[in-house]
Amino acid sequence: MAASHYKYVIIGGGVAAGYAAREFVRLGVKPGELAIISREEVAPYERPALSKAYLFPHGFARLPGFHVCVGSGGERLLPQWYSENGIELILNTEIVNADLSAKALASSTDRTFSYDILIIATGSTVLRLIDFGVEGANANNIFYLREIDDADKIVEAIHAKKHGKAVIVGGGYIGLELAAALRINDLHVTMVYPEPWCMPRLFTAEIAAFYEGYYANKGIKIIKGTVAVGFDTNDIGDVTAVRLNDGRVLDADIVVVGVGAKPLTTLFKGQVIEEKGGIKTDGYFKTSVPNVYAVGDVATFPLKLYHKLNRVEHVDHARKSAEHAVKAIKASERGQNLGEYDYLPFFYSRAFDLSWQFYGDNDGKTVLFGDDNPSSAKPKFGTYWIKGGKVVGAFLEAGSPEENKAIAKVARLQPPADELELLKKEGLSFASKF
Ligand code: FAD
Repeated sequence: MAASHYKYVIIGGGVAAGYAAREFVRLGVKPGELAIISREEVAPYERPALSKAYLFPHGFARLPGFHVCVGSGGERLLPQWYSENGIELILNTEIVNADLSAKALASSTDRTFSYDILIIATGSTVLRLIDFGVEGANANNIFYLREIDDADKIVEAIHAKKHGKAVIVGGGYIGLELAAALRINDLHVTMVYPEPWCMPRLFTAEIAAFYEGYYANKGIKIIKGTVAVGFDTNDIGDVTAVRLNDGRVLDADIVVVGVGAKPLTTLFKGQVIEEKGGIKTDGYFKTSVPNVYAVGDVATFPLKLYHKLNRVEHVDHARKSAEHAVKAIKASERGQNLGEYDYLPFFYSRAFDLSWQFYGDNDGKTVLFGDDNPSSAKPKFGTYWIKGGKVVGAFLEAGSPEENKAIAKVARLQPPADELELLKKEGLSFASKF
C-alpha cells in the first residue's frame, strides 16, 4: 500500500500537538495538508487534568470537557474541529519506525506515512519500578499516570477499594496531586519518598515543610528518606503491601507510582542530535535534521533568558513551543524571520484547596515571605530566588491572577535585590511594584 503523504505530520497527539494544530489553522493550512498521528484513542486534551479534576469523587472532569485549548482559556477543539479544518486526526496509531532521511514513518498496524515537514511531539513516558528490578512491581493495582487510560484504571480502583489503603511512591508533583486526590476520595493515604522533602527539584526545605504540614493535617502520612524495594501480593496477584528499604511494611490496596518520566526519543536515536536526554533544537525548535522539528517535553532548547540549553516538562512550554514551531515553519515558507523562542519557565500545581505558581529559575539564595503556617485558615506565602544580586525566580501559594502576573514579571525583569531582609519584609509588595 502506498504511503499516505502529508505536507506536515505531527507524531504524538498530546498537548503540544493540539496547540500546534490550532496555530496551523490560525496561520492557514489547506485541507489534507496536516496529519496528527497519535497512539491515544482521543483527540488532544489538557493532560494536567488527569491528576486533578479527573479523579474528583464529585463534579469530576471528563472528555470532551478538557480537550485543548481550554487549559489556557482558549476554544475547546473537539474531534469535529479537526475534520472541519481538513486535519487528519489519526488516532490509535503508534509510529514504530521513523526513517528521517527517507521522510518515512511506519505504524504498528503497518500503515506508512511520508511528509515534507515533521514535528516530533511524542512527550514523555513514566519511569516504571519494574525497570529498576523492584520485586513484585508487576502486581495488580500498582498504577502509573500519563494517559487517560491510566487515569481510568485509577478511578476504577478507587471505586473498587472504597476506604482502602493507598500508598503513593514518589514525592514529586504527581505524587503530591495523587495523594490529595485519593485522600479526597476517602482512602487512607501514605506517601513514601527517598528525599529529605517533597518536590526537591523545585521546593526549598521551607516551602516543602508547608505542604508536608498541610498534608499531615489532612491525614496523609509521609515517610521520607526511604524507598519501596518490593511489593507483596495475594493469590490472585493483587498488591497487599509495600516493603520499604528501612524494613517497614505498609499495607496497601492501591499503589500509585510517580517517580519521574523520560522523554520519548527512542524512535529517533542515532538520527538526530540529542542533549540532556532530549532532542536538541534551536530557538525555532528545528532539530539537527532539516525539516524536522521537536516540541514539548522532548525538546532540549535554548532558554535564552539563562543562556543555557534545557528541557522543560511542563504544560505551558508544551503549548508555547508548539505554537512557536508552527510560526517558525510558516514564517520560513514566506521567507520571513521570526524571533527566537524566549521562554520564561512557568510551572503550577493544584491539590486540595492549594494552588501555587512558579516562574523563572530556582537557583541561588532564597527568601521566604508571608504566612506559611499550614494550620492557618488561609495560608499565603511565597519565595524569591536571588542570584548575583538579582531576583531570578518567584514562587507563590494562593496568589490571585494579578499577583501571579506580578511574580511572573519580576522573574522576567530580574530586578536587583541586595538586601534580603528587606525583600522578606516587602514580600509580595516587592513584586507588585513592577
Ligand atoms: P504529551 O502531552 O505527553 O503528548 C505526547 C503524545 O504523543 C501522547 O498522546 C502519546 O500517546 C503520543 N505518542 C508518543 N509516542 C508515540 C508514537 N510513537 N506514535 C504515536 N503517538 C505517540 N505540567 C504543568 O505545568 N502543570 C501540571 O499541573 C501538570 N500536571 C500533569 C499531570 C499529569 C498526570 C501529567 C502526566 C503531566 C502533567 N504536566 C503538568 C506535564 C504536562 O502535561 C506535559 O509537560 C505536557 O503534556 C507535554 O506535552 P507534549 O505534547 O510534549 O506531550
